[in-house]
Amino acid sequence: AALYRIDGWGAPYFTANTSGNISIRPHGSNTLPHQDIDLLKVVKKVTDPKPLGGLGLQLPVIVRFPDVLKNRLECLQSAFDFAVQSQGYGSHYQGVYPVKCNQDRFVVEDIVKFGSGFRFGLEAGSKPEILLAMSCLVKGNREAFLVCNGFKDVEYISLALLGRKLALNTVIVLEQEEELDLVIDLSRKMNVRPVIGLRAKLRTKHSGHFGSTSGEKGKFGLTSTQIVRVVRKLRESCMLDCLQLLHFHIGSQIPSTALLSDGVGEAAQLYCELVRLGAGMKVIDVGGGLGIDYDGSKSGDSDLSVGYTLEEYAEAVVASVRSVCDRRSVKHPVICSESGRAIVSHHSVLIFEAVSAAKPMAQEAHQVNHDDIQFLLECDEARVDYEDLYAAVMRGDQESCLLYVDKLKQRCVDGFKEGVLSIEQLASVDGLCEWVLKAIGASDPVQTYNINLSVFTSIPDLWGIDQLFPIVPIHKLDQRPGARGVLSDLTCDSDGKIDKFIGGESSLPLHELDGGGGRYFLGMFLGGAYEEALGGVHNLFGGPSVVRVSQSDGPHSFAVTRAMPGQSSADVLRAVQHEPEMMFQSLKHRAEKLMHTKGGGEDEDDEELNNVVACLDRSFNNMPYLATEP
Ligand code: PLP
Repeated sequence: AALYRIDGWGAPYFTANTSGNISIRPHGSNTLPHQDIDLLKVVKKVTDPKPLGGLGLQLPVIVRFPDVLKNRLECLQSAFDFAVQSQGYGSHYQGVYPVKCNQDRFVVEDIVKFGSGFRFGLEAGSKPEILLAMSCLVKGNREAFLVCNGFKDVEYISLALLGRKLALNTVIVLEQEEELDLVIDLSRKMNVRPVIGLRAKLRTKHSGHFGSTSGEKGKFGLTSTQIVRVVRKLRESCMLDCLQLLHFHIGSQIPSTALLSDGVGEAAQLYCELVRLGAGMKVIDVGGGLGIDYDGSKSGDSDLSVGYTLEEYAEAVVASVRSVCDRRSVKHPVICSESGRAIVSHHSVLIFEAVSAAKPMAQEAHQVNHDDIQFLLECDEARVDYEDLYAAVMRGDQESCLLYVDKLKQRCVDGFKEGVLSIEQLASVDGLCEWVLKAIGASDPVQTYNINLSVFTSIPDLWGIDQLFPIVPIHKLDQRPGARGVLSDLTCDSDGKIDKFIGGESSLPLHELDGGGGRYFLGMFLGGAYEEALGGVHNLFGGPSVVRVSQSDGPHSFAVTRAMPGQSSADVLRAVQHEPEMMFQSLKHRAEKLMHTKGGGEDEDDEELNNVVACLDRSFNNMPYLATEP
């Protein structure tokens, strides 16, 4: 387990148990020992065929743990509650979850349900997101905020105003100055008093990858000139009391509390200025940015880690707002945050399988038969290269060996291109050279493990922005891995590979695949935020199966409370405008026509036809991933 730094990035939810498997501690540090969930048992339950008591689902699968989600929310809330209490802060914390991080219905519904006791709300950034947030919050706490961010048109603003008619606490956050006229106009027409927020473009800039949102040239928010104009216009429209919230977002994965305090301090000054100008200010919304430690280093020196805990984050936010407001004698506002990554990253694990491993050639190289390379001795130039190589091997001169291997190989490749060497002869030379490399200890020990997954569908940030996630075998952790590997996915795309891992490693310690048919399961952790939302269908590999697993006090420590097979081939074909039903019919029609005209016996034709139709039917309805039944 230490090899994979599990205690660093996994605590308090993931650990290696005494059977060598990954265990989930669904309630974090409050989990009792008998409540641990053995992930391998979950995978077995999910993948075993139905007659054996399993659910018969195909991998890859996303396993969601709602208890982890609940624990994350409660930890965030109690971190702020503690900071508020210990600093004598004069208001409270009331967060929202940005649904863009994972819009899955059950994730959002769970958050609304678990957060209802402390008025936890949602943030939306588009029309479908506001629709889903409104419908989920109908079942939530009436005071919970529905923060409406993003670019807005008449329809979006109308929806947000309609939300207030439905007694939802919608706040329209102006991201662009032009949105104000629409808000003023539509709220009059719809006879709704809106609650308005504005997003400020802060000068504080976060320098990591995620910081491009921030700073004066950031993509979003209003400049100070625009804020002054917005205040003026609202005053003229007798709506300055409607301006109640100040929002900013300096970027995701804020690396340090120093930067955070700097940004929050700047925003708090702006907040106080808006109070001075007469706005009805009540809430400061510090956006997202609460980071998580993907590599377990807690260093904060890259996009992969942050140098603070949840408690330190809350403490810094509350302290910065409080100190500015106290200096300006401004009443402490409600503090809102839009943490997405920190809430949902831990709640799901992506499980996939390594199906085969291609050893580097050197590991396959056998002693080369003398007859196979006899031809080398028949060509003067090749013979010299061969003899030089032979002498270098005998001397144990590694440097010369490498040189002569290259030379001999190049000469033989030239010979092959000229048509002088056969493919068998070329293969013999390759074999000889690989054998030499192995003999002198210069062979590449890294194997390529083929994984039944699409990086583009399931880990898009790995491909898009080089984001790394902890990837670990979920079993055999009590056995020392005998190999090192890089992972190659199913897509026909050279970018579909994983050859960078946390800790700066270019390969992962892995166990040799069991030739006897034993399966080898790997887990990708901390990917609950953004990865599902951003994934595409490159090569038409669709979304994985999804199961929801809760801690249970029954005979097993867990219960699968929901199971959804992943997208079938028909589903992904439909997503790119094909019509699978028609495709099936036309292929079936062709089969009927051809199989009845073949002239075999009637029964034989019928059986073949039935087989063809059944095969087509299965192919449309199964997932596009490799079928790897044991
Ligand atoms: N709020 C806004 C406006 C954002 O743009 C984002 C993401 O970038 C978030 C909240 C969520 O940020 P995080 O996932 O860092 O908590």
